[in-house]
Amino acid sequence: MKNFKAYIPVLIALLISGLIIFVYQSTKDINKEPKEIYKVYLDGEYLGAIKSKRALENYIDNEQQALKEEYDVKKVYIPTGLDIEKNITYKGKIMSEKNMYKKIKERKNFSIRGYKVTISKGKNKNLSNDTEIADKINSNEITEDDSSNDENSEDEKIVLYITKKDIFDKAVKNFMYLFIGEDDVNKFVNDQQPEITTTGSIIENIYLDQDITIKESLISTDEMIYTTVEDLTKFFSFNENISEKEYIIEPGDTIESAAFKNEISTRVFLIVNPEFTSADNLLKPGQKVNVARMDPVLELAVEKHIVEDVSSGYKTIEKEDNTMDYGTQVVEVAGVNGISRQTEKVRYINGKVDKVYITKTETIKDPIDEVIVKGTKRNSSYTGGWVPAVFSGSWGWPSVSSYITTYYGYDDWHGGFHNGLDIALSGCYSPIFAIESGTVLETNSGCADISYGPGDYCGSGYGNYVWIAHPEGVYAIYAHMAGNVVVYPGQTVSKGQVIGYMGSSGSSSACHLHFGTFYGGTQYGSNGGGTGFDPLSLYRWKHVYYLVEVKGIVV
Ligand SMILES: [Zn+2]
Repeated sequence: MKNFKAYIPVLIALLISGLIIFVYQSTKDINKEPKEIYKVYLDGEYLGAIKSKRALENYIDNEQQALKEEYDVKKVYIPTGLDIEKNITYKGKIMSEKNMYKKIKERKNFSIRGYKVTISKGKNKNLSNDTEIADKINSNEITEDDSSNDENSEDEKIVLYITKKDIFDKAVKNFMYLFIGEDDVNKFVNDQQPEITTTGSIIENIYLDQDITIKESLISTDEMIYTTVEDLTKFFSFNENISEKEYIIEPGDTIESAAFKNEISTRVFLIVNPEFTSADNLLKPGQKVNVARMDPVLELAVEKHIVEDVSSGYKTIEKEDNTMDYGTQVVEVAGVNGISRQTEKVRYINGKVDKVYITKTETIKDPIDEVIVKGTKRNSSYTGGWVPAVFSGSWGWPSVSSYITTYYGYDDWHGGFHNGLDIALSGCYSPIFAIESGTVLETNSGCADISYGPGDYCGSGYGNYVWIAHPEGVYAIYAHMAGNVVVYPGQTVSKGQVIGYMGSSGSSSACHLHFGTFYGGTQYGSNGGGTGFDPLSLYRWKHVYYLVEVKGIVV
């Protein structure tokens, strides 16, 4: 025990020293300065920690010299989506700025400071009223840096990025000059438009019919960023996917004539072909240029006050005269247009008329009504000359249909004298029969079965036809047939023989047979002095045109 007692101080000393060592070890950490570090996250992904945020930003800025030159900016910023969080810690690995820069660069592009421009679709609002007209182009309602604007309908908006604000202003002006002359704009801005004394027009308002916001912001260089007025003007005029329409310069072409030939303005030509600096630039024959049409992003509204003289049409009054033949008419008083002076408010969107309000109309000169006298005397029994009162033969009918759509005589629809019968409703390609025995005099089969309609003068308007000399001095034309005419000149045909098929050739609007009959003359038809007569005369003695016996069936 004695020994043990002797050990106690030693033990205590050991215990204390152990305690001291323990305390020392823990105070070693406590006494150490806690570190300030920055944890870097990119789009939620933890990339590591760095010593100084500022040092990283400066490193990025120094390294991104190329971006600065490309966008002509003084500083390049960390990418969007990069979060740097300050942390106090005693341990943890610290990365160098250089390594962090590499890690970020592998993942994402850096940002620059510029402007986000948001353009809404056209408002299509009504014309501004007179009190608002004082608005001038330079006071376009552009909201600046209004971060409270909610952008829920972003998808209906056009968003673009620019490096400098004046690029936007200048590009809008260039766009405006596509539709209004620079002179006219200047006169409007400076209140130098001449007043209208009689007729003329003045610009009352020029504005973009869209909500436009311009906000300063950091922009990822992933985005399309406009750095020049030319590029932005091109975007405003043609949208993103500028269509390529090539034109090859011909000898003698100037920029003006090449643009004119392709229905674009010289200004549009210069925007789409930026290699030319002015309309005076020379062109080489064979040179390829783009003559794409505009597809504007902006909606430039121009409101004009216009006073113009417009012609006011005369009315036509019709009178009837029963001593004049039906189908004839005489102009008793010729009509003369009047003149009225119209005051209008017109809104143009990108040069096209959008809305017109006529605010005043005054008569300068009254119109004179035209008076037309129309004959009403009908000669229903007109035969065009002498023909035998009754033909003795037993004439056949030329179609399987007995439906007559137009009779012989004056006819409103034809607008004159109809020299035959139109028989229809048996369908295209139904057979056509010789009405009696005879000799084929002439045929035509060169026309399309179905013409393009009235006014197709194939076969002198008759299309495909057959002329036949029948007994008793009767000549008949079977017209508008399909092209497969089955008889030939000189051929002898018998009564009821198929000579061809119904068509709509020549001046015809539907499948039908024009059946015309002529009498006398040395030749046939209108060529030989024969007299046209009503084909129904051939059947008159039977008193039944509509119940004609055809091929053994009563139709
Ligand atoms: Zn006819």
